[in-house]
This record gives sequence, C-alpha cells and structure tokens, in this order.
Amino acid sequence: MYPDYMQESLKLVERTRADRLKIAKSGEKVFKPMTEKERGEVLSKFHPDYKEDARREVRVGPNKGDKITTEVADLLESHSRIDSSLFDLANPAYETDVLIIGGGGAGCEAALFARNEGANVIISTKLRLGDSNSMMSQGGMQASVNPHDSPIIHYLDAMGGGHFDNKPDLVRALVTDAPMIVTWLEELGVMWDKGADGHYVTKAGGGTSRRRMLSARDYTGATIMRVLMDEVKSYPDDIKVMEFAPCVELIMDDKGQVAGGVLYDLDTEEYSLVKSKTTIITTGGFGRLHIKGFPTTNHYGATADGIVIAYRAGAKLLYMDSVQYHPTGAVYPEQILGFLVTEEVRGLGAQPVNKVGELFVFPLEPRDIEAAAFIRECLERDKGIKTHTGRVGVWLDSPIIDMLHGDGTIKRNLPAMVRQFSRFGIDITCEPMLIYPTLHYQNGGIEINERCETNLSNLYVAGEASGGVHGRNRLMGNSVLDYNVFGRRAGINAGQRSKQVKLGKLTLNHINRYEAELKNAGIKTDRISPILLPDYTPKEVKDRQLTAHYEGTLR
Ligand SMILES: Cc1cc2nc3c(=O)[nH]c(=O)nc-3n(C[C@H](O)[C@H](O)[C@H](O)COP(=O)(O)OP(=O)(O)OC[C@H]3O[C@@H](n4cnc5c(N)ncnc54)[C@H](O)[C@@H]3O)c2cc1C
Repeated sequence: MYPDYMQESLKLVERTRADRLKIAKSGEKVFKPMTEKERGEVLSKFHPDYKEDARREVRVGPNKGDKITTEVADLLESHSRIDSSLFDLANPAYETDVLIIGGGGAGCEAALFARNEGANVIISTKLRLGDSNSMMSQGGMQASVNPHDSPIIHYLDAMGGGHFDNKPDLVRALVTDAPMIVTWLEELGVMWDKGADGHYVTKAGGGTSRRRMLSARDYTGATIMRVLMDEVKSYPDDIKVMEFAPCVELIMDDKGQVAGGVLYDLDTEEYSLVKSKTTIITTGGFGRLHIKGFPTTNHYGATADGIVIAYRAGAKLLYMDSVQYHPTGAVYPEQILGFLVTEEVRGLGAQPVNKVGELFVFPLEPRDIEAAAFIRECLERDKGIKTHTGRVGVWLDSPIIDMLHGDGTIKRNLPAMVRQFSRFGIDITCEPMLIYPTLHYQNGGIEINERCETNLSNLYVAGEASGGVHGRNRLMGNSVLDYNVFGRRAGINAGQRSKQVKLGKLTLNHINRYEAELKNAGIKTDRISPILLPDYTPKEVKDRQLTAHYEGTLR
C-alpha cells in the first residue's frame, strides 16, 4: 500500500499508461535509445563512478599508483587480522590438493570439476554453503541457444556493454562455453523455463541485441544452487565443506608459490591452517562495502575478502575503479531498501516513468547508462518521487507487463518479486514499484587469464572476485554464466595442476612485507581486513554495550 502523498503521482502514471502501451504494442522502441555521445554525457555527469572523490591512488601493493574506488583503496591499505609469528606452519591442521575459498556458485562449480580431475578438495566458506549472491540471482543466465543468435553476437554485446575494456580471451571463453553450460546444468537437474514445444524461453536484457536470457522463473539462482549444492554434498569423501570458516590470509611457500590459507572459525574464534597444492578464490564481490553510501542487493558476506588476501600476497587487480549500480533497487518500503528488482521486469516490458508519468529513458539501456539516467531524472530534473524518509526514486510501471503479454504473466514469471512486495501490501500486478539505483556488482577484481590463473603460481580465481570478463560494465545474465564457465575452468586447471606441484617450506612473510610497505608509505590506520562482515551497529549502541571494548582473538 502506497501512502497518500504518492497517490497523485500514481494517478498520473495510470493516466499515461494507455498511450505508452500503444507504442509498446506497435513494436516500435518505446523511447529513443541514446547515442554514444549522449551516453558519455549522462555517465560523466551522473554515474557515481565519475564523481571526483570516487577514486584515489592506492599507495601500496601490486597496483600501487593506480586509481581505484576509494573505499577499496581504504580497505587495501589496512593491517592483517593475524600476527604471523604465532602460527606453527610446520603442522597445518589440514592438507589437500585444492583449497577453494568461497562456497557460492563459482566455488561449488570449481569443487565438482576439480574432483573430476581426481583432486581432493576443501571448501572454506564464510557462512553456510550457498549463502551467497549466487543463491539470490533472479533474472537468469545468458547463452546463445537460439537459431538467430551465436557466440559471436553474444561476444559483441558483452564487449560493447563493457565499453570494450573486457579482456577478449575471457569473453571468448565466456560465450563459447555458454551453450555447453546450459546443457550440463540441465543434465544435472536445472529446470530452465521452456515453451510448450520444449524450446528454451529466452528473454531480452539491457544492452543485448538478441533475446538470450534463460531463466527458471525469477528463482534462477536458487534453482541452480540447489542442484550444485546437492552435487557437492554427494561426494563427502572427496569434497570437505568447512562452514563458518572464512579464509583470512593466504599461505605462501619459500619459492613464492601460493600454498594454502589461514581459516578463522567464526564460532570458536580459533585459527587453523590448510596446506594446499593449488588454491582457488571464489569469494564473490563487495556490495557490503556500501560504496558512496549506496544500499546494496548483495548478501552479507560480500565484503571483498578475496581481493584483500590475494592483494596482500601480490596478486594484481584489474578495473577496481569501476562499480556496477543496478538501476532498479527498491526504495519503498524502507524495509527492502536496495532489494533487487530484476532486469527481467524491464525485459518483460515494464517501463521506468517519472513522477508525472512520463517515460524518460529507453528501458533497456546498459545498466550504467540506465542507472545514470535515473539519477539525472531525480537529482537534476527533480522529477523523482520523494519518500517520507528523504529518499527519492522513479516508478517502474510493472502492470503494463500483463497488458502486453496477457493476465497472469507477472505472477507466472516473477513469483519472487510478487511475493516480496505483497508482504508490504503492494500488488505489482496493478501498482508500479518505486526504484532507484542500488550497489550491485564488482565489475573488476583479481586479474586472470582464460585458465583462471593469476600472476601468482598455484593461485586461481573465478566468479565475481575476478576482473576482466565484463570490462567496466557487466551485462545482465553474464555473471551467472561467468561463475559457471570460470568456476568450471578453475576447477579443471587447478585440479590438474595439483598433480604436478611440489611445495616448499610454508611462510606468512608476505604479511610482514606488506606491513613494512604500509609503514614506508607513511600509512597510519587502525583498519584491519578482511572485514568478514559489515558492522551496522551505530556508535551510540556500541557505547551502550557491555562488550564495546571486546575484540575477540583479533590480532
Ligand atoms: C540479488 C542478486 C541478483 C542477481 N541476479 C543475477 C542474474 O539474474 N543474472 C546474473 O548473471 N547475475 C546476477 N547477479 C550476480 C550474480 O549472482 C553474482 O555475480 C554471482 O552469483 C557471483 O558468484 P560467485 O560464486 O563469484 O560469488 P558468490 O555467489 O557471492 O559466492 C561467494 C561466496 O564466498 C564466501 N566468502 C566470502 N568471503 C569469504 C572468505 N573470506 N572466506 C571464505 N568464504 C568467503 C561468501 O560467503 C559466499 O558464499 C545477481 C546478484 C544479486 C546480489
């Protein structure tokens, strides 16, 4: 139920709907897409990445001197959680062929394929297996499965969406593996949406020239993860899952190779060492850093841990100056602030309109352009709808979907979305949603090649923690594909490599070297990382708590 002060604007949206529906039914574009020049202008003026204080030079580590997102630079210029001298590296608690850090989609996929190569696997994960962004993905996965489509067209779309900054070899791997991944997942039990004659239902997405997104209603992530997790749990002798046991540092050996990780038990607050021949980082993204104060779609564990520990060990980062704000995050009600309204909603025909019911942007521009256009509409043109908590947003006119495709389309295709809003008395089949950009995706990450190798021997990375696949702007549906394609590749390559590795003496000296670098750079900070979980406790509450000065076993 929307409050009284929004009712006038809602009436204007209803009043303009018939005309907007007519254009949509005609097959014409409902709003003229922007030219490249217009796109450049709206990005530079309104996208948060382009604000003066959005980036700064990082003063230590392999990317020293590069301009990266300010909050990430702050996080990298920080101390380790551990004192390296307190560990008995000669007696690790666990030994394995492959250590996988992160139990989301990329981690599960990597574990299955490393096992196929005959490797023993340990998955260290921060929360429970599957507590991840992968579980929450809604809209779907891109793959060129239609006759009018091809990996080449998919390639061109992904490159264009990423402003041609993507690493070509990675995009080639992404698009050529995609159809095989669709079949593999289906054989494992994923039930893709299909038409009556058995063909895959494919939907449109921002910045794509073909309908290419496969889905399982708007529960795509949960559907895929159910299957992957079942499979992982089927092999307890080969894949050991350690839950609530995040990795807080990598271990190296005296030959400079990565040789495992230091795990921290969130229950007992004890540390343990895992020695591994190869290591795969699949820790996902950084939404919970709340860059520029934006709300986020991400799960609580998305705190850039993999980036931090890899960087401290010497791994190079790529495109850490670029953040993806999803254009359609919920603004009202406040309880679901930042909650993702999947791009599938616009893919099905929903239109973004301002407070007077006008369409003001082509609904399926690439995400960064669309987000910047929403911000312009609210902040420069003052055509947003203000909420009583001081937020602002535009409408996403969802009821038009049923008018375009027939009654029941919304309930059939978007059951999660219908349920989410109905909890607050909003029926999205007959009322629009109030939305504004929300922090969604880490475009950059640890640099990899198409075998998921990094510049450090025996260290592999897959999924959102890696950088280069999506350039500086990921297209919808390409990230679920990314974690499947590169999770698989990382598992195969790390599994095979583990058979050849000879490790030297274990060491944590890289932590001391990093400390020295911080000191030489004159950096004084009390920040420690990885942060593991975001801290939302307000200062006045902390001050009231008896445990305000308790620091656990940290440092
Ligand atoms: C709400 C939402 C909807 C989305 N919808 C889509 C969509 O429709 N299509 C699409 O293509 N993409 C979508 N995405 C993006 C996509 O889901 C993610 O980018 C992708 O799933 C990331 O997979 P991952 O395995 O790399 O990371 P994740 O799935 O996030 O997994 C990372 C795992 O690592 C664990 N971890 C973190 N730190 C540590 C540590 N220190 N030690 C051990 N473990 C750690 C985490 O707890 C988590 O389990 C969506 C994202 C969100 C948030």
